[in-house]
Amino acid sequence: MKIYNTLTKQKEELKTIEEGKVRMYVCGPTVYNLIHIGNARPMIVFDTVRRYMEYKGLQVNYVSNFTDVDDKIIKKANEEGVDPSEISERYIAECKKDMDALNIKPATKNPKATEEIDGMIDMIKTLIEKGHAYVAEDGTVYFKTRSFAEYGKLSHKNIDDLRGGNRELKVSGEEQKEDPLDFVLWKPKKEGEPYWESPWCEGRPGWHIECSVMSKKYLGEEIDIHAGGEDLIFPHHENEIAQSEATNGKTFAHYWMHNAFLNIDNKKMSKSAGNFFTVRDILAKYDAQVLRFFMLSAQYRSPLNFSSELMEAAKNGFERIVNTVSNLDFQIQNKADSALTEDEKALLAEADGFTKKFEEAMDDDFNTADAISAIFELVKFANTNTTETASKAFLEGLKKRILTLTDICGLVVEKKDDGLDAEIEALIEERTKAKKEKNFARADEIRDELLAKGIELKDTREGVQWKRI
Ligand code: AMP
Ligand code: ZN
Repeated sequence: MKIYNTLTKQKEELKTIEEGKVRMYVCGPTVYNLIHIGNARPMIVFDTVRRYMEYKGLQVNYVSNFTDVDDKIIKKANEEGVDPSEISERYIAECKKDMDALNIKPATKNPKATEEIDGMIDMIKTLIEKGHAYVAEDGTVYFKTRSFAEYGKLSHKNIDDLRGGNRELKVSGEEQKEDPLDFVLWKPKKEGEPYWESPWCEGRPGWHIECSVMSKKYLGEEIDIHAGGEDLIFPHHENEIAQSEATNGKTFAHYWMHNAFLNIDNKKMSKSAGNFFTVRDILAKYDAQVLRFFMLSAQYRSPLNFSSELMEAAKNGFERIVNTVSNLDFQIQNKADSALTEDEKALLAEADGFTKKFEEAMDDDFNTADAISAIFELVKFANTNTTETASKAFLEGLKKRILTLTDICGLVVEKKDDGLDAEIEALIEERTKAKKEKNFARADEIRDELLAKGIELKDTREGVQWKRI
């Protein structure tokens, strides 16, 4: 299994620290609003990475944080006149609902920054003791960036170029920095802000320190994979490396994975420009599975463009898989048990070729675009070979192969019983009866009634099949 590592700019074979186990940390969202579809990209992508590693027999310890103390959360709390924790708890709950709809597996642990303050204070103390951090007059603690010789290794930036380009970084309130490159580990409270006691001042942690601390606490000093969106490479992940490696004296993460951005209509997503959608906005129009399918239609390191046309295409593509599975189900239900013929055995072996193709795509830095093409090839193969003479065991074999691959992608392709099924079945029965009694007017009426509900009927030799359109 090869992973593109931002650190080395190369695809590398995955070699885990502990055999058979993966320690993986994914930077999670800052919870002050409903998540937008851009935030959903890393969630879906890295959940799929996890699922594939599990399919390959690896045990994945998957940790993803919620940043629940931040300027934006405090601003929103002040606007609503409520406690910041009310805002963060509300949006953590909403975020979990979206993640659930998108079939994202719950993380092994979802730590929250506000519950890990003691660990952050401990790490900051160590950094001060080791000469990597200092306390300014107002109680702010800064990381001494130049004290970490390898600073810039992830973003492939030269520290001296950074210095030139970032003089303006001395923003107000941070004038006590010794060097413009230094960044905040702990800052004093301001009026109306949540704060915690610390040896330096009453205040709150900087953003970067939380991930260094939570990753160490739940996964250990050295982990396999650290992931997030590409905007996090600099400064967030660069700063995490500096903090963690300066504290622990060990390589922080062996593989750094970053997803490219999702744009809307080929433009950067922006609230003010009016091209901004929450996951909720999209779920009002589309099945969550279609959104997940859309996100996986591109390899995660390629920018992904979101538009209604592309979502419609994703909807059609996804439904092709759903309809094939539903057709197989129908045939399976109407067949008596029978063993595989020799020809069918050979056909299933041929079908395994698509599974292999899928695995090759995923082994090549999780190329879900090619992996989905392999699923389509398998679906086409299943459609071609679902003949009236096919045995039950053969059809089950085809279905199992499709579901194994869609499961890895976290896609639910089996029709769920939304309560409509019984009603549809009853109408279909009535129509069959009406036809027998030569009451064709009623039969046509039922067909139209179902069509209006988005259900299309097909008369086959085995009986009536239906599908959602
Ligand atoms: P934030 O809440 O801004 O810290 O973002 C949470 C995660 O979403 C991070 O991994 C970001 O890199 C990622 N992210 C934010 N916007 C986008 C976008 N438009 N496309 C892809 N990933 C994004
Ligand atoms: Zn982080």
